Amino acid sequence: MMQPLPPGSTIGILGGGQLGRMLILAAARLGFKCRVYTDVVGPACDVAEASMIGAFDDAAKLSAFAVDVDVVTYEFENVPLAAAAAVERIKPVSPGPESLKASQDRLIEKNFVSELGIPVAPFAPIDSDTDIDAAISAAGFPAILKTRQLGYDGKGQVRVANVDELAAAFAEIGRQPAVLEAVVRFAFEVSVLVVRNAAGETRFYDTTRNHHDSGILRTSSVPADLPAPHQLRARQISERIATALDHVGLLAVEMFYVGRENSEPLIVNEIAPRVHNSGHWTIDACQVSQFENHVRAVVGWPLGVTDRHSDAQMNNLIGEEAHDWRRFAGEPGVCLHLYGKAEARPGRKMGHFTRLKGRSSDG
Ligand code: AMP
Repeated sequence: MMQPLPPGSTIGILGGGQLGRMLILAAARLGFKCRVYTDVVGPACDVAEASMIGAFDDAAKLSAFAVDVDVVTYEFENVPLAAAAAVERIKPVSPGPESLKASQDRLIEKNFVSELGIPVAPFAPIDSDTDIDAAISAAGFPAILKTRQLGYDGKGQVRVANVDELAAAFAEIGRQPAVLEAVVRFAFEVSVLVVRNAAGETRFYDTTRNHHDSGILRTSSVPADLPAPHQLRARQISERIATALDHVGLLAVEMFYVGRENSEPLIVNEIAPRVHNSGHWTIDACQVSQFENHVRAVVGWPLGVTDRHSDAQMNNLIGEEAHDWRRFAGEPGVCLHLYGKAEARPGRKMGHFTRLKGRSSDG
């Protein structure tokens, strides 16, 4: 097992977005330096000690990046496996390849989760038009057609109500490999953020209730008001997944809560082997945030406490909403985080704010 890295060591981060930025800010608090490797300049570059701009298929450049850091992690799950392997030949990469593999392809992800005995929405792959009938038999209607790769924030997803809509949707996504999935009628959505270290210890943040609009996360709140046995079940599911992956770092598990009358109240939608938008509230409502705990796991430090001292609601600032920064900056009890992105394009996550309240319950 890796010796803990001392303060002053350098963490390499693959990806240059806001998640990387917040990881770097947390790492700096513990005395670490961070370097970023990204294909486009992004919010993480403003706060990194150095940034290398390169393609994710440039093995030589990735290797050069790895030489100058002590350990490597990533802030997005679409790091090509070959890129992670090129880095791994030179420096340790956490989370490991199993976590990447299972989360960057929806079909592999769903097979992996359901083989653990954890419920997922009924699904079937569609690789060509000839798969459509079998997929309808498995998923039924209404359903969602999702591309296997590179979908996020509702991108690469089309809701379909009948066979004609499905055929048209498959043509529209360019007949790329996809998954057809039944629409789940859920009461609400939740996520569990679990951090796991190389010794296999896990800690959980309180389950978070999430509200999405058009596939994009709008708010995350704690407590989630999930009945206690279901809160426990959500943690068991997440621990099972983290352990099966031998995951080291933060793992987010997104689930649909289908209500107490169902024998299986929770259905897993997606896993992310990284810090997650639904855990941003932990920066302001916990002693040790998801970002710091990810860093701690990756550098081999003891995990930090995940208890929260406040109830919290995190709101994403999307597109032009961030232009209201003066109002949020002046509101007592609001913790404002802006990512330094220049252009407020529609659907773009520009920042977030978290409202804190006195702590009410465990949930
Ligand atoms: P995803 O990109 O898979 O995380 O999906 C984004 C959002 O779309 C989810 O958080 C849900 O709000 C919605 N969604 C995705 N899949 C389903 C499903 N099978 N049933 C109902 N809603 C879904």
